[in-house]
Amino acid sequence: MLKNKSIFIGGIWHETNTFSNKKTFIKDFKSYQWHENKNLITRNRNTNTEISGFLDVLNQRSLNVIPSLFTAAVPSGIVTKKTFLKIVNKIIYHLDKEKIDGVLLALHGALVVENIPLAELFLVKKIKKKLKKNIPIVATFDLHANLSFELFEICEMLIGYDTFPHIDMRTRGREAAFHLCKMIKNGKRPKKIFKKLPILTVPQMQCTNDPPMNDIMKFVFNSEKQIGIDSISVSPGFPYSDIKNLGLTIIGYGSKLNALQIECNKISDFILTNKNKFIPKSLTVDELERNLLNFKKLKKPIVITDPSDNVGGGALGDNTEILGILIKHKLPGTIIIWSPYLTKKNYKDRFFCEYIGPNVNYDDKFSKISGEIIFKANNFSYIRDGLYMTGQKVKMGNVLVIKTKFNLKIIFTENRVMPFDDKHIKVFGINPRQEDIIVTKSGSAWKIAFGKIAKTVFNVDTNGICSSNVKKIRYSNKYLKKYWPLNE
Ligand SMILES: [Zn+2]
Repeated sequence: MLKNKSIFIGGIWHETNTFSNKKTFIKDFKSYQWHENKNLITRNRNTNTEISGFLDVLNQRSLNVIPSLFTAAVPSGIVTKKTFLKIVNKIIYHLDKEKIDGVLLALHGALVVENIPLAELFLVKKIKKKLKKNIPIVATFDLHANLSFELFEICEMLIGYDTFPHIDMRTRGREAAFHLCKMIKNGKRPKKIFKKLPILTVPQMQCTNDPPMNDIMKFVFNSEKQIGIDSISVSPGFPYSDIKNLGLTIIGYGSKLNALQIECNKISDFILTNKNKFIPKSLTVDELERNLLNFKKLKKPIVITDPSDNVGGGALGDNTEILGILIKHKLPGTIIIWSPYLTKKNYKDRFFCEYIGPNVNYDDKFSKISGEIIFKANNFSYIRDGLYMTGQKVKMGNVLVIKTKFNLKIIFTENRVMPFDDKHIKVFGINPRQEDIIVTKSGSAWKIAFGKIAKTVFNVDTNGICSSNVKKIRYSNKYLKKYWPLNE
């Protein structure tokens, strides 16, 4: 029945932080991930991505794959309308109405575009217009998706990640393709349930290896075992977006609506009863400094996380508050700072002496850094070998690594780098196990890179735009005032 059927694949990923003033343009997509036509297949095959998962199932069943475009940009500010429309046009250009029997999309779910409310819905509508009637569309989405009911309605099925840090992308891609094939084969569509809980949670507390998410996911996996249930996804969402569709979403599919209702209600009750477990514990910068006065006695490596400056959440990764403390107390370790201007400078000898602060503007608060340049390269990149996005090429751009006399290594990068593996410091000869302090600008994703070796962890709430305290986020959308914990 599936023989000679053709499946259209493509997608767009962007986690949009509407509080960032760094708008996202086409060059940001092209410089991170832009896989078009045959490249979409060759660049993704055997990687830990949804596209790879789609291909696994489609190739195994000998279906025709019709590739379009998959593109992604590092999380950042709102995507310009022109950028998005260009991407949409590139994707739908490849659609041939007569030939398509099903559509698989890798979406993120937290994309925000200027003047286009519900951008992912806009894309799916454009695709649907170019299809024959009743052609099923199945899409994957990130655990940080801010899903709308409208997107849920228009797609036959939405399959979300079960993990954060995200390591199940390929598996979810396979799951999506499996369900799409099933629909094409039997012509049936699953029944579905959508629930939105008005609660705001931060990435720092959404790790699926820790409470409360590990308990929530256990609940979900148990529900998925019930007869008549095909798939249930929970997306706690991405809070750094000033839009209406924030909050935690539960989505379920299956042949038995009654069973779905019962299970999704149970999950929803469990989450609401345990919502206080989503409240993060963070130190202020002053508290961190007091803790570090005890540096000698602390078990090492010490991982200091700066979730407020989380690059993966759309912050710039240039906050220097923690760097300032390390320099003030002459503490050894490793820190990465996004510094596009600095990496472009031409240093003639190995000696480095600069005042460093956010965006490298000069200001009294800035720290003087002097040290030796131990590494310098242009257009530097490496291939991820960790569990996250295995096989993906990471373009760090121009890189400058400085080592101070007290063995603090500062890695300045031209591109914003997310700590999804430990290779981003290992490539400079830094062994994370031997470091006293590792500063990471991340909410939970750092756990893949350093979670197993960290002996002491300090989560610090700095002045970055991804604060762990949602009450510090300046939402203008009045609708959100009713959300927990803002309503307390
Ligand atoms: Zn995510």
